[in-house]
Amino acid sequence: MHIAIEGCLHGELEKVYATIAEIEQAENINISLLLCCGDFQSMRNLADLRCMAVPDKYKELGSFWKYYAGIEKAPLLTIFIGGNHEASNFLQELPYGGWVAPNIYYLGYAGVVDVNGLRIGGMSGIFKGGDYLKGRYEIPPYDKWSMRSVYHTRNLDIFRMKQMESSPPDIMMSHDWPRGIHDYGNTKRLLARKKHFEEDITNNQLGSGPAMEVLQTLKPQYWFSGHLHVKFAAVVKHGEADTDKSTKFLALDKCLPSRGFLQILTVGPEVGPNEEVILSHDPKWLAVLKATNHLLSTSSKYNHMPFHSAEYDGDKHLEEIRELDLRIHPDSFKATAVPFDPQSPEGRQPKVQKALNMVADPENILPNPQTQFLCKVLEIDDPVVVLAKSGDKKPERKQAEEQKTPEKDTSSRLDLSAYLPTPSQDIDPDTKISLSGDEDYDDLGFEIDTKGAAGADEELGFVVDTKGATSNEDKRDSQSQKTDSSADQSPVVKKLKRRNVAMYKSEDSD
Ligand code: 5GP
Ligand code: MN
Repeated sequence: MHIAIEGCLHGELEKVYATIAEIEQAENINISLLLCCGDFQSMRNLADLRCMAVPDKYKELGSFWKYYAGIEKAPLLTIFIGGNHEASNFLQELPYGGWVAPNIYYLGYAGVVDVNGLRIGGMSGIFKGGDYLKGRYEIPPYDKWSMRSVYHTRNLDIFRMKQMESSPPDIMMSHDWPRGIHDYGNTKRLLARKKHFEEDITNNQLGSGPAMEVLQTLKPQYWFSGHLHVKFAAVVKHGEADTDKSTKFLALDKCLPSRGFLQILTVGPEVGPNEEVILSHDPKWLAVLKATNHLLSTSSKYNHMPFHSAEYDGDKHLEEIRELDLRIHPDSFKATAVPFDPQSPEGRQPKVQKALNMVADPENILPNPQTQFLCKVLEIDDPVVVLAKSGDKKPERKQAEEQKTPEKDTSSRLDLSAYLPTPSQDIDPDTKISLSGDEDYDDLGFEIDTKGAAGADEELGFVVDTKGATSNEDKRDSQSQKTDSSADQSPVVKKLKRRNVAMYKSEDSD
């Protein structure tokens, strides 16, 4: 099947889908699946936007809410992992994965699924040493610490993924790069394009150590990442012999004009143009979840993992799990929040910051019917329920700082799908909150190169590339390092650059 892989989405679903449609037409192919490597930004409404770790002045709602509200429909199955800019309160509802909108599936903190026989795994978040060993204690309303630690990778999810060793997925995704992966590709070229990685590369601090451990344990055929906003390819050989496995790594850029943000790959079983694309749970992964359920922690204290043992690989549960209906039914999506309404008083605000001040922080996480169902079938704990019950959900500094907020009644659950607004196509552009949703696709420079990417990418057999003009990309990167005010940069590009620089210079940076 043909699949598309995207780096960081940053809320630009419509643009990525439009690019995929262009490629399908130009290449006369049918793309069955889109994989997104994090910073997806599945904001349903402004309250979700308040939970995303980005300084207020850089916050944008993006286009996801239209898919959530049913105004737009994802044209192909889309699977994503979380990054460090997410609607973290919403993703917390789905720790073991689930639909966030029709045809758009989140893999959870970690997860493995099956698409027509192709097995895809992923791990959400980014690595930060100080939080790695802690349980998942964060709960909305977040303070400035928990808003960040909520997306930091935890040892339990890595431990679980390592249990897949005997039956690894074909494809793996992580938002940050596996640490040291740069050594397996053209580091010189990477540094020529991203000089500011030099210090981290020298100190071997670029990327996630645990992600590299998983790569070396599972040895998957492919590994895709985002986060560092550059296209970069590498091959990790897992032994000296020709017959030994190797992992083809590809990092992709974020969705911006003239950037290497999308890759088309032909992989796995063939899927005909009229054939149904079927998403299913991976039985081995569910078996691992079951076998490690007792290791779940919602405490901010360290939660050490046991030594590797067959006890946790789930094989003892495999037979009973294979008996279950493993299909993830497309109609099992259920809305759990009221989506953004452009006609509401806050929706009519031309400035995001003002609109954000008109809504309150989410006060809790509601149990999500998809998580409840999966946990019931597997007879495991729903982490959201465990968290709600646990006394130790907030570290001391947070408790001390917290201001009293009025209690909201969250005891009864509504089926909110009945309250969705009537789909409307003609939203007044003046009331549109996204600052980056106005460009004409034709002007974005999404050229399609059928010759394939040059250099390392070509060696890897990534045959169709959306841009391919590697030399132009090189030029652009080196120019943009010299000056931030080059004439070809849109205000949005400049704004994102300023935001990244500001964030990674600040002490709370990731
Ligand atoms: P994000 O979109 O996640 O806020 O930011 C990604 C940007 O931050 C990338 O363009 C990258 O340059 C920078 N960045 C992220 N992580 C690191 C890191 O560990 N080291 C360095 N030097 N830069 C990073
Ligand atoms: Mn990121």
